[in-house]
Amino acid sequence: MSEKTVDYIIVGLGLAGIAFAEELKKQQKSFVVFEDVSQTSSLVAGGMYNPVILKRFTPVWNAKEQLDVAIPFYKMLENKLSASFDQVFSIYRTFKSVEEQNNWFIACDKPALQEYMHPEIVDVASDSIVAPFRAGRLKHTGRIKVKELVNAYRDDLKQSGSLIEETFRHDNIITWETHIDYKNLRADKIVFCEGNGIEKNRFFNKLPLNGTKGELLTIYAPDLKLNDVVKSAIFILPLGEDHYKVGATFNWSDQTNTPTIEGRKELEEKLRTVINCKYEVVGHEAGVRPTTGDRRPLLGCHKDNSRLAILNGLGTRGVMIAPLMAKKLYQFLENDIPLDKEVDIRRFKQKG
Ligand SMILES: Cc1cc2nc3c(=O)[nH]c(=O)nc-3n(C[C@H](O)[C@H](O)[C@H](O)COP(=O)(O)OP(=O)(O)OC[C@H]3O[C@@H](n4cnc5c(N)ncnc54)[C@H](O)[C@@H]3O)c2cc1C
Repeated sequence: MSEKTVDYIIVGLGLAGIAFAEELKKQQKSFVVFEDVSQTSSLVAGGMYNPVILKRFTPVWNAKEQLDVAIPFYKMLENKLSASFDQVFSIYRTFKSVEEQNNWFIACDKPALQEYMHPEIVDVASDSIVAPFRAGRLKHTGRIKVKELVNAYRDDLKQSGSLIEETFRHDNIITWETHIDYKNLRADKIVFCEGNGIEKNRFFNKLPLNGTKGELLTIYAPDLKLNDVVKSAIFILPLGEDHYKVGATFNWSDQTNTPTIEGRKELEEKLRTVINCKYEVVGHEAGVRPTTGDRRPLLGCHKDNSRLAILNGLGTRGVMIAPLMAKKLYQFLENDIPLDKEVDIRRFKQKG
């Protein structure tokens, strides 16, 4: 016998779960969220938003549409939760050669990138950064303090009695024509926002989500004196009070959230090519990014049951993409507005 009836059950409270929960609140739908801290991607994320792919100087897919939704979304959460999450700063991309400097200018002329790239070559504002070929600077970039956001959001849900701090067990779902039962809950729909935890979800684990593990260090470097992000062999991100995040690694075989000696070694080796001052490692974290082969999110419903939906595959850019994708999924589920083909799980016909 169900004791509580809600419109939605959300599984997972990372960036995807928070974005969908907020969409539900906006639309005055009721929900509960299950969260068991089995995945750490949102908790460890650098949290940067940046509309340019810094390897090739090309625009991020749909960057403008994503940012136009994301920035007001985080601002709204700052107001609601009385906290500050958006740390605005420039990103300096250091150059390895004259050829890269030229490529920067070529990219600056492209209409899709003009808005985001300063057409000049500059010095990084820190004597401790090694950048003989200097750097290019990006606009409209910054960082969302994702861990602080997740923790504040979790506390808020707790207070309203909407958070269930336990593992959601997929085998306990009973589906009916008119609703879903899960233990003592009755819901209209379930939205799975499980990140790399999808592997335990028998309804969606055939979808091609192949997690990419990432490790990050936190360093204390009082002589570095850096106020903006530097992206070189690695990124260095100022946290305040002479602390910096340094990352990240990419590992496609290890699917655990455990920091490794190899990960730290790789990051420190790269760090020493970028800075020439002393530092001390004071933290080391890891998480698995929910990445997909075609670098597009996974949105949609189970092919045999439209009450089971998924919001996943946010990849390496969850901060920018989560709020827009939550809106699109909601419009699809409630108003039958078709999903863009690029994000719809039906692009994997035989698997979805
Ligand atoms: C090292 C690193 C650096 C990154 N840097 C950036 C960056 O600078 N900018 C950026 O935009 N993105 C970055 N990312 C990517 C970003 O973290 C992800 O895109 C995003 O966090 C994915 O959010 P999510 O909600 O889909 O998944 P997750 O954050 O993994 O959340 C899923 C949640 O579901 C819960 N869960 C799963 N299964 C169950 C279950 N059965 N029952 C209950 N709860 C469950 C998990 O505990 C977890 O909290 C980085 C990621 C890593 C690892």
